Amino acid sequence: MHDFDYCILALYLNMIKELFVNTIEKLSNSLNCNLVLKNYTQIFGGSVNTAFLINTNIGKFFLKFNINKVKNLFDKEVRGLKLISLTNTIKVPSVIYFDEEVLALEFIQSNELNKKFWSSFGYSLSELHYNTSESFGLDHNNFIGSLLQKNNFHTNWSDFFINQRLKPQLDIGNFSVKTQKLFESLFLKLENIFPVTKPSLIHGDLWSGNFISSKDQVFVIDPAVYYGNREMDIAMSKLFGGFKKEFYDTYNYYYPLDKNWKIRLDICNLYPLLVHANLFGGNYYSQINSILKSVIK
Ligand code: ADP
Repeated sequence: MHDFDYCILALYLNMIKELFVNTIEKLSNSLNCNLVLKNYTQIFGGSVNTAFLINTNIGKFFLKFNINKVKNLFDKEVRGLKLISLTNTIKVPSVIYFDEEVLALEFIQSNELNKKFWSSFGYSLSELHYNTSESFGLDHNNFIGSLLQKNNFHTNWSDFFINQRLKPQLDIGNFSVKTQKLFESLFLKLENIFPVTKPSLIHGDLWSGNFISSKDQVFVIDPAVYYGNREMDIAMSKLFGGFKKEFYDTYNYYYPLDKNWKIRLDICNLYPLLVHANLFGGNYYSQINSILKSVIK
């Protein structure tokens, strides 16, 4: 390492140390105890924040620091966790404390997936999805990763999908005229592609990094909730792989998906792919174009 790199590392460690000192004080006040930090470990796997497991005199906690200073990020995450928790369907970690800088959650100790894990996950998700609303959307905007997720209400799924999901990502991104034209053609077709469906409370970012198996139960984390088409969660679960057949079979048993659901998954995934293209660039552009070309023949 060069001197400059050591300097950056020292600055980073200093910043983390200061965040820890402040956080321990905040948690002590909020929990009304004298919290003592014993040790900590950084947790990787997230895409936005810097996360740690802390071990204290009263137990373990999960901490995330909003080091990119995205305004209201944790407020929206907490609202999402609470909305899911209120349904009493699928588990989420309890919120211990949050402000603009830090989110402290119950630490969920993961363990190996047992035999029934996937079917019980499929069942709990179907139960979550039975929670419905009159329209697609939510009473507040939230985030997908670190990007704004608009949730203005629409009574029809394709209008919501176009105006609150696809267009906002196209507007902030760097997409070619050709891609934009393909999207315009897709917008004209969407109403006939998606059957009429009820809004469901969905997790909104259900990839394999956003659940934890613990003591034979599934916990979901880092939600981007709204009342949407439940096929969005199913599609997202397939985008980066990892979910097993029993999950889909059990889900379909308790809440059968509409006819031809499989052929709509790629279209649903245009949203997370646009988000990924905007956040990370790279290969996502070509994935988006090949889906568009296959739909607009
Ligand atoms: P980000 O907001 O940066 O995407 P996540 O919320 O996805 O971060 O958390 C990063 C990682 O930390 C997750 O992939 C998961 O492995 C772990 N994690 C998240 N919440 C908890 C928790 N409550 N208990 C234990 N581990 C957690």
